[in-house]
Amino acid sequence: MDAIVALAKRRGFIFQSSEIYGGLNGFFDYGPLGAELKKNIRDCWWDDTVRRRDDMVGVETSIIMHPKVWEASGHVAGFTDPLVDCRVSKQRYRADQLFFAAVIVDGSTVGYVSALESEKTGEDLQAAAENFKRKRAIQGQLTPVQPRDMTEAKPEEVALIPSPATGNPGDLTAPRAFNMMFQTNVGAMTDASSVAYLRPETAQGMFVDFRNVVDTGRVKLPFGIAQIGKSFRNEITPRNFIFRSREFEQMEMEYFIHPDADWLACHEEWLQWCRNWLISVGIPETHLSLFEHPKEKLAFYSRRTVDIMFRYPFGVQELWGIAARSDYDLKQHQEHSGVPQVYFDEATKQKVVPHVIEPAVGVDRIVLAVLCAGYAEEDVKDDKGNVEKRTVLRLSPRIAPVKVAVLPLLKNKEPLVARAKELYTRLKRRYPVFYDEAGAIGRRYRRQDEIGTPWCVTIDFDTIEKDGSFTLRERDSMQQRRIQEPELFALLEERVY
Ligand code: ATP
Repeated sequence: MDAIVALAKRRGFIFQSSEIYGGLNGFFDYGPLGAELKKNIRDCWWDDTVRRRDDMVGVETSIIMHPKVWEASGHVAGFTDPLVDCRVSKQRYRADQLFFAAVIVDGSTVGYVSALESEKTGEDLQAAAENFKRKRAIQGQLTPVQPRDMTEAKPEEVALIPSPATGNPGDLTAPRAFNMMFQTNVGAMTDASSVAYLRPETAQGMFVDFRNVVDTGRVKLPFGIAQIGKSFRNEITPRNFIFRSREFEQMEMEYFIHPDADWLACHEEWLQWCRNWLISVGIPETHLSLFEHPKEKLAFYSRRTVDIMFRYPFGVQELWGIAARSDYDLKQHQEHSGVPQVYFDEATKQKVVPHVIEPAVGVDRIVLAVLCAGYAEEDVKDDKGNVEKRTVLRLSPRIAPVKVAVLPLLKNKEPLVARAKELYTRLKRRYPVFYDEAGAIGRRYRRQDEIGTPWCVTIDFDTIEKDGSFTLRERDSMQQRRIQEPELFALLEERVY
């Protein structure tokens, strides 16, 4: 992760927000290359979900909505994470990320140890328990620790569990529900009547506009509404770079189906679609897995939720959630607004409240996934056979910030520069391209490798003196071959879509 974060900063992909003021935890800025990468991901998703499908329309709804939306959706009452405070250090923890275990010697509990969630929580707790026993010179057989998280602590245990910040028992509070919605006030008055929220998900905008879309969009069941936009969650512990932040971007779809339709088949179809889409933007299949939410842990309205998981350097984590949400959301809005949220079914001449399948993914989590999967440090041989390191970012041509770098072999040879600039200008009309004439050609290739540019073209003397062909150098194989301009355009046409 450190190497990826360093590259993201060094090459202008991602910066800490408000860095000159010390940063703000959980907020990030996308730099010139990051903004391009993110835009490409959004564009690919929009093209594939909205423009290239006949059963999907796109919307862009407001970030601040009527506060009743969030009452109806259940967010005001229930969009909470369990929070534990350390009274002494003032540190805050998500209770389900703070683990503890009883230290049991010869069958009796002699104390407790705690550790923050990590790849090796169990090992950390075991080591802490052994340390606890050794420090107090307790004799006897230590039982292997049984890690539990703070949401599972019995009330009488809370006072006995040491705070990870101070190491002392008695400093932690019992878990309490913390609502993650950011509150604000709309208008000049700052009182209870003006309270509003920054949306914690984009989904509700699509439910609330369901009737508007049906009335104006010429849509027929089954159909979907899609949107891309910012969401805000006051996460207790933002972490793992852009994986969990407080301001992030979502790409969500609400796919409405007839209540009698085969929802399971539809859910399965979307699951496959989303997985294939990730592969189409260059995420290797080997990094993906599925997590089926256990039935007993599903929200009462959910029939099935499966997450597409990605193997990040810090563990296997949720990337895309695909939920079958029944007719819960539309019915809630129907009840709270008093406005029927129905669809007229021509076949049966009946009004129905459709059910919905919801694939929801975070753009920032995709950005992080493609950076993690694409990043590599390799030993390669230069022209003279010397081994050197190259850092390469294997980004799919679909999302790479720069598609082609145009390089004149020498910068002080006017005909080479003129031809390179001419090609650059032509390419630029259609693709993001980069012109670079500074430094040795090998160094220029390396610079492009590091930012994920799939191809470089080099204009040399043969280009201007012979048949006009130039060198095409591929990032991944580093192979070079000569091609003509129309071939380059054909290649781009095929691979950048
Ligand atoms: P998690 O369990 O990781 O908190 P979630 O299940 O609450 O996520 P959803 O409410 O299903 O997430 O949101 C849909 C998608 O939005 C997630 O799959 C994820 O890609 C993205 N997402 C959610 N919270 C964040 C966040 N704090 N930062 C970045 N992306 C997020």
